[in-house]
Amino acid sequence: MSSEIRVRFAPSPTGRLHVGNARTAVFNYLFARARGGRLVLRVEDTDRVRSRAEYETEQADDLRWLGVTWDEGPDRGGDYGPYRQSERLELYQEHVARLTEAGLTFRCYCTDEELEADRRQLLASRLPPRYVGRCRHLTEAERRAREAEGRGGAVRFRVEDQDLAFIDLIRADKKFPAGSVGDFVLLRADGTPTYTLAAVVDDALMEISHVIRGEDHLSNTARQLMLYAAWGYDPPRFAHHSLLVGPDRQKLSKRHGGTSVREFRDRGVLPEAFINYLCFLGGGLGGGEFFEPNDLVEAWDLSRTGKAAAVFDESKLEWFNREHLRALTPPELTRRLRPWWERAHLLDGTTIVEGDRSGTELFTPTDDIGIRRILSDEDLTLVSGAISPMIHTLNEGVDLAEPFFVAPKGVALPGAARPAIESLGDQLNGVPNLTPAAAKSMMVEIGRRTGLKGRALFHPVRLALTGRDRGPELDVIVSVLGPTECRRRLAAVTFEG
Ligand code: GLU
Repeated sequence: MSSEIRVRFAPSPTGRLHVGNARTAVFNYLFARARGGRLVLRVEDTDRVRSRAEYETEQADDLRWLGVTWDEGPDRGGDYGPYRQSERLELYQEHVARLTEAGLTFRCYCTDEELEADRRQLLASRLPPRYVGRCRHLTEAERRAREAEGRGGAVRFRVEDQDLAFIDLIRADKKFPAGSVGDFVLLRADGTPTYTLAAVVDDALMEISHVIRGEDHLSNTARQLMLYAAWGYDPPRFAHHSLLVGPDRQKLSKRHGGTSVREFRDRGVLPEAFINYLCFLGGGLGGGEFFEPNDLVEAWDLSRTGKAAAVFDESKLEWFNREHLRALTPPELTRRLRPWWERAHLLDGTTIVEGDRSGTELFTPTDDIGIRRILSDEDLTLVSGAISPMIHTLNEGVDLAEPFFVAPKGVALPGAARPAIESLGDQLNGVPNLTPAAAKSMMVEIGRRTGLKGRALFHPVRLALTGRDRGPELDVIVSVLGPTECRRRLAAVTFEG
């Protein structure tokens, strides 16, 4: 085995990328990066019925989104390919043939019903379920008789009765006493390889130095070690990290909320917040909570990752997201929000309001249905800066930004608000444009003239301009809308009483 650090992430393309698997991917990625090693992406698609090309594409896309990059994989090749198990079937067959020649396998003709009945019986006697060995010692004649019945035979590995032990990098010594593992299947009756077989062949041939994966695979390690020994391969080092659970400490499931990376991505979670949270979970980060992606390589350490289950808590993820959102500069936040605004058609700009900032009225006031104002990059930056402290996820930035693009309709205010609205309209008359600071001074001046203060002044103005009770700073709203658009919105208000 080479002394190079080589790790792998080996997803099965049978669904969306689960947050638990994403965490495994991140751990492998950081482990490789911190040690100058290589990360291999291997697609475990031997389950022909459940594997789909779309899932493979989507999972890879979600990994890239998260910032996980790999050095070898189906999309980019490498010296150890192919990297899809469905393209490596001959290698698995050859490896099984070698075991068969050495007398280490046997054909098993047990039906699913028989195996299920065995399992129930063992459980009823409070014994761990394992293969009972029914076909282990069949004579040639018995074998032929079963084949004549049309039973296809699976190929099982003949497990030797001996203790097994290995050192796990997270869990220290692990022991599997003799008898705890039954003869296991290598090839199913239809000739397809099992996960156990394919994973060992690939990890050995791809010269994987460290297998970092969830603790649900701990019991597979015993079987896998038997196979390494049978073929004379050096086993890799193993590290089994804890699994994610929900706040109720039960296995993370739909019941708890989102379970796939895509769901959080679609809700407007930032990739840097998500990867930060995945590393934080389980205690792998030293010296604080908040880290930018580039600093995670230094800050995260496999040996710090605890053995105890890590609680995946969406409110904590939201906290990380908020912190990362606030750390973005307004132009960068604009870049992140742009696709959200695009999807909501806020950037469609059905009408270009020329002269908007010059105070010239170029508007056809009647049919403003569907009108989207076009904002300059400078104004978009102001919008992002104003909504940045208010959002927890990017999607919240759609609703908050909407009034900058679309005028409210049918705003009706009490008569008492009339002086504030009219005074602002007068002040804006003939003004070419306004910075947020100038807008602020203007509001102070209106307060002085009308004698209105605080909420009595700001609330009607906010309602008139945005149709909302709450939102970003009023000075930014007035500045970005510009005098003409503000006057148009103020003029559209009706008064009750
Ligand atoms: N395809 C397996 C899974 O997704 C990989 C397990 C392993 O890392 O060995 O669980």
